[in-house]
Amino acid sequence: MPENILIAIAWPYANAEIHVGNITGSHLPGDIVARYHRLKGNNVLMVSGTDSHGTPVTLAADKEGKPVEEVYKKYHDGFIEVFKGYGITYDLFTTTHTDNHFKVSQSMFLALKRNGFLFTQFSKQWYSPSSKRFLPDRYVEGTCYICGFEGARSDQCDNCGNVLEPEKLINPRSKEGGALELRETEHFYLDLSKLEPDVKQFLRERAEHMRDTVIGESLRKIESEGLKPRSITRDLDWGIPVPLEGWEGKRLYVWIEAVVGYLSAAIEWSQLSAEKARAEPSRNEAWREWWANPESKHLYFQGKDNIFFHTSMWPAELMGAGKEFFEFFSPSPQPSPKGRGGTLTLPYDVPANQFMNLEGQKISGSRNWAVWGLDALTRYDPDALRYYLTVNMPEAKDSDWDWAEFVARNNNELVATWGNLANRVLAFCYKNWDGHVPSFGEGGGTPPLRDVDRNLLAVIENGFNTVGAELEAVRLRSALGEAMKLATAVNQYLDQTAPWTAIKTDREAAAKAIYTALKAIDSLKVMFAPFLPFSSEKLHSFFGYETLLFGKQYIEEVSDSLGSHKVLSYRDVSRIDNPTYWTPSGLKPGAKLNQPSPLFKKLEESVIEEERSRLWK
Ligand SMILES: [Zn+2]
Repeated sequence: MPENILIAIAWPYANAEIHVGNITGSHLPGDIVARYHRLKGNNVLMVSGTDSHGTPVTLAADKEGKPVEEVYKKYHDGFIEVFKGYGITYDLFTTTHTDNHFKVSQSMFLALKRNGFLFTQFSKQWYSPSSKRFLPDRYVEGTCYICGFEGARSDQCDNCGNVLEPEKLINPRSKEGGALELRETEHFYLDLSKLEPDVKQFLRERAEHMRDTVIGESLRKIESEGLKPRSITRDLDWGIPVPLEGWEGKRLYVWIEAVVGYLSAAIEWSQLSAEKARAEPSRNEAWREWWANPESKHLYFQGKDNIFFHTSMWPAELMGAGKEFFEFFSPSPQPSPKGRGGTLTLPYDVPANQFMNLEGQKISGSRNWAVWGLDALTRYDPDALRYYLTVNMPEAKDSDWDWAEFVARNNNELVATWGNLANRVLAFCYKNWDGHVPSFGEGGGTPPLRDVDRNLLAVIENGFNTVGAELEAVRLRSALGEAMKLATAVNQYLDQTAPWTAIKTDREAAAKAIYTALKAIDSLKVMFAPFLPFSSEKLHSFFGYETLLFGKQYIEEVSDSLGSHKVLSYRDVSRIDNPTYWTPSGLKPGAKLNQPSPLFKKLEESVIEEERSRLWK
């Protein structure tokens, strides 16, 4: 029975381009796990989008002297190019600036209010008399009154990680320049303290399978500090209006609405796929198969700085909104296709990563101490980048992008161990068996295999369990390492059976070795596919298969009352019935092959200095 898997990935702010640290932090691990589940025949829905609201975006627009809408779209369109280029297969990558997202966020707000989890309170905020407006969080900087850090934001200190009370900030200064004064303003607060017992219970049930770093930042922190109410509205004119009379000029705080994006993007995906398949209007409600289905598994891929929002705040919002969300969102709800409903599905896991540094220093966009996502694609193949970003993924601790290591791992592992293995065996077979898989006897049967052959195939077959178990647990470095070990085992088998020389004296022995190696490579292709989808698809075609392992990515323009926005989508046209690819090769003797070619490129040592000289510029 296929499982329903939601892959929910951090929403990037529309104020900076994407670098390799962002890719390895959340987008790539999410894609690897999504592709694995698709190969297994599960129903995957992978969503994210651009966080278009909030002060990081308005500050970027102020700095560039352009309208916010234009600036968010510029970054959004760039994100879509990066994800398409790296093969990050979002079923939908959208934005928070859509009609649908406004409606879903406002419904969440109203449901929380109905259920008694919101209250209002006056507080003091910094006000600019010259521009006649309140200046929220990032617009005011000063010295942290807890740790003394001089670049603290008025609502949060990035140095000590504490939430700050704006009026206590030392030496406050406006990012716009000009005078500041404290004024009273009224805001809505999410009463997290009321939801604390539920959040703790939720985390305790998941502590077994969640990463220790994640439990440390959530359950253990809540047990020692408790959950305090958080303000969820701001005095801003860009963003989602508070859906209540008398609250004009206030917007939902970007954090409470950005996480709602995982739900709103699933709904938008349903609506778009229903439009495409006009004959099947029930697709309109397909999102409920993930969101109103307690059996579905939701995985949230994040950087370590966002753990709290996904392990505590978002589950609290989901539990607090309850079934009332459905009432506000669609007053006459259609029954869920599976007959379920009631509550919104809670996260299953939040496999948050630590950070990736670059050549020993923290990545910094403003100093150009970064490897930019799109720029790297102009010089390297996406699978070469995906390989290095996976072997070096900051799963348990911070990692480091090092150009010398990038070249070494590409040449010694990706090319030497895996790429050459596949190319050498396929090319040798293609040449010596006239473009076909070896076969025996008059009827062209399976070669009677020897112990050495059967042993190798048993080891490879077991890889579907060992590599699969690591992928299932989101230990991706280890999963890829396990697959690479199996490639080494095939290389050792070939050293031992030496078909290249055997063919001159014992063609039957050579045929057995090549048949065995081909079957092993055909299986390994599937195990490598979540990590290296482009080369695996190519290899799949060399084996003569007419199907595709994966679907295709599309960029489309969607219109609504707020204007139009681009989306990145994914369609699995070749696999309507969810066939299972995650299974040992069934390669038949005598099958026709296609002309093979090398899968990867060896890199020159000179690349290292060239790339290092690009930094700081
Ligand atoms: Zn501080």
